[in-house]
Amino acid sequence: MVGAGLAGVRSVEALRARGFGGTITLLGEEAHRPYDRPPLSKSVLLGETDSTIVDSDLDALEVDFRAGVAAKGLREGVVETTEGELAYDGLVIATGARPVRLRGDGAQHVLRTIDDALELRALLTAGTKVAVIGAGWIGAEVATAARRAGCEVTVVEAAAVPLSAALGAVGAHTASWYGQAGVDLRLGTAVASVDQGGLTLADGSTVEAGVVVTGVGVRPAVEWLAGSGVELGNGVVTDEHLRTSLPGVVAVGDCAAWWSRRYGRRMRVEHWDTALGAPDVAVAALLGEEAVYDPVPYFWSEQFGHMVQYAGHHDGERLVLRGDPATDARWGVCWVSEDDRLTAVLAVNRPRDLVQGRRLIERGQRLDVGRLADPAVALRDCTAA
Ligand SMILES: Cc1cc2nc3c(=O)[nH]c(=O)nc-3n(C[C@H](O)[C@H](O)[C@H](O)COP(=O)(O)OP(=O)(O)OC[C@H]3O[C@@H](n4cnc5c(N)ncnc54)[C@H](O)[C@@H]3O)c2cc1C
Repeated sequence: MVGAGLAGVRSVEALRARGFGGTITLLGEEAHRPYDRPPLSKSVLLGETDSTIVDSDLDALEVDFRAGVAAKGLREGVVETTEGELAYDGLVIATGARPVRLRGDGAQHVLRTIDDALELRALLTAGTKVAVIGAGWIGAEVATAARRAGCEVTVVEAAAVPLSAALGAVGAHTASWYGQAGVDLRLGTAVASVDQGGLTLADGSTVEAGVVVTGVGVRPAVEWLAGSGVELGNGVVTDEHLRTSLPGVVAVGDCAAWWSRRYGRRMRVEHWDTALGAPDVAVAALLGEEAVYDPVPYFWSEQFGHMVQYAGHHDGERLVLRGDPATDARWGVCWVSEDDRLTAVLAVNRPRDLVQGRRLIERGQRLDVGRLADPAVALRDCTAA
C-alpha cells in the first residue's frame, strides 16, 4: 500500500479481513501513524483534541508500516521509494491529494496534515488578523475556528457565492452565516498573490493579515506515477472495480478517478466516506473478485454552528427547497431529475433528510415532488404512489 491515510489503512484491514496471509507493507510519507483528516479543521483547530489517529491495530494486522518513507516511482512489480526498491505482487495506490498554493512570497498556511493543523492553531489567537482564501468547505471551517479563537477574519472568494464548486448557486444560502459570525466575506474577489503582511487582490488593493490560510482545493498526489504506465487523468484512472491500467494495481481514496456505473461518468471524490468504502472493493479486485464500486457520494461539514450534509451528484437538475434558508435554522435542498427522481440532497441541520435522501437516491425511487417542498413531510414519505 502506498499512502498511509484512511484509504491506505482501510486497505490493509480489508485485505486481512478477506483472509490474505501474505506480507503487507504500508508506506507513508508522513511521520505519523494513519489518522483522520476531517477533525483537523474542526475539533483540532478548536483545541478540543490533539490527535486523530485512526483506531486500527497495526501490530495485530501484521503490517510492515514504514512511516516517513515516500514512493518516488513505479515500474511493473517494483515501487521505488526514498529507502530503496520494494517488490510487490499487488499494489494499492492511496496517496490522496495535496493542497494548491497560490503565488507570492508571503507565509501561506494550508490545512491537510495534523502538523498543518497544530501549527495553524497556535497562530489563531485573539485579535490576530486572519485572511482565508476560498469560501469552500475548508475555508468555512477555518473561518469558524478562527472566529471562535477571537481572530479578525476576512474570507476572500473568487466566485459569486460560498461553496460554489460543490453546490453552485445554492451556496448563496450560506453567505449570511459569515456575517452573523462576524467574518468579513468578500465574494467575487480574486487574489493576485500572497505577500508579506497579507494579500494583494486582482484589482491591486490589499488585505492586511498576520496569518493567511489558502483553501482553494487540492490536486491528486500522483506525480510519482509519471512514466509508470499507470494511466493518469485528474488522478489515477480506474475501472468500476478500481483497477488501474497496470495489472495487479488498484487505486482508492482522494487520488482515484473511478468509472461510476451509476452516473455513467468518471468520478473523483475527495471525501472521507470514499476513502472508507473504496478499499474493500479495491482489495477484492486485487484478489481476483469482481466487486463493483458504485456509491452515492456523501460528505459533511460543520461550519458556523451548522451541520451541513450532502449526498448524491447533481448536474443542472430542478431544485426544490425544503424550508426557508433565510429564516429556518433547519433547511435543505433536493435536486430532482426530469423523471422525478432524487439525484442529490443537501441537508442543513436535518440529518434525517440526509439518511432518507441518500436511500431514495440509491433506490432511484420516483417522488411526489409537490410533497418534497413541505419540510414537515419526511423525505421517505415523498415517494410517488
Ligand atoms: C482539513 C480537512 C477536513 C476534511 N473534512 C472532511 C469532512 O468534514 N467530511 C468529509 O467527507 N471529508 C473531509 N475531508 C476529506 C477527507 O479527509 C479525505 O477525503 C480523506 O482523508 C482521503 O483519504 P485518502 O487516504 O485517500 O488520502 P489522504 O488522507 O490524503 O492520505 C494519503 C496519504 O498518502 C501520503 N502520500 C502521498 N504521496 C505519497 C508518496 N509518494 N509515498 C508515500 N506516501 C504518500 C500522504 O502524505 C498522506 O498521508 C477533509 C480533509 C481535510 C484535509
